[in-house]
Amino acid sequence: MSSCTVPGCPRTTDEDTRRRMCPRCARQLQALLRELVGQMPILQASLQLDRSPTTGSVHGGRAHSPMPVRGDVLTLLGPGSNTTLSDPYGDTRGDQTGPPSLDQILRGWAEATAEHTRLAPTPWRRPGQTWAEWLAAYLPWILGAPWAGDFHQELGELVGRVRAITRTEPRRRPLDAPCPSCEAFGLVEEDWQPYVECTVCELLLTPDEYTAHARRVMPRLYRTALLLAAQQHQESA
Ligand SMILES: [Zn+2]
Ligand SMILES: [Zn+2]
Repeated sequence: MSSCTVPGCPRTTDEDTRRRMCPRCARQLQALLRELVGQMPILQASLQLDRSPTTGSVHGGRAHSPMPVRGDVLTLLGPGSNTTLSDPYGDTRGDQTGPPSLDQILRGWAEATAEHTRLAPTPWRRPGQTWAEWLAAYLPWILGAPWAGDFHQELGELVGRVRAITRTEPRRRPLDAPCPSCEAFGLVEEDWQPYVECTVCELLLTPDEYTAHARRVMPRLYRTALLLAAQQHQESA
């Protein structure tokens, strides 16, 4: 057992694994990658500034003036992302100055993962696969990498920047059934999280396990609630 390598986390890793982070941070990392995959289309849709009727035609001249785009989104998406054509300059992108794009940052982590696993000299993506999806598929290996804590931290910052642009935060919903372990009404499900979690005793259930549990206990709870209501009604009558 050793300490979790995610900066600021006071927990320890599981005894029987070679993971460099605690189970909670590992689940958070999985959720961050899932969220990034889900956020990409919203981020891309945020690229163009809202069109107002006066935009683009004030100075006349060009029939097709370029659409104004958001600089902060363009920085994240990288050059060439404001066109649907493929990048004509291809590999010369490395010459660009300025902050690295999301794709470049994730590709860097994918290269580090490929090196760590020694599975392949360079990471290979299926056509259409994003780097976030690629990294999610390699999560079990990433958790054992010496830089796993740094990856968690950088990904958290990236997702924070994306959320600020798309104005979406993960939502947390309380669930109806009580926790099967501590019996408290503390079970919640949260966007992108792989598990239902008890906020009181930290028990984890898969969504299927929760559904099966709720099917078992909810009818009894409803009956009890009905009986109680009927009893109160009689007493007050
Ligand atoms: Zn941790
Ligand atoms: Zn509980």
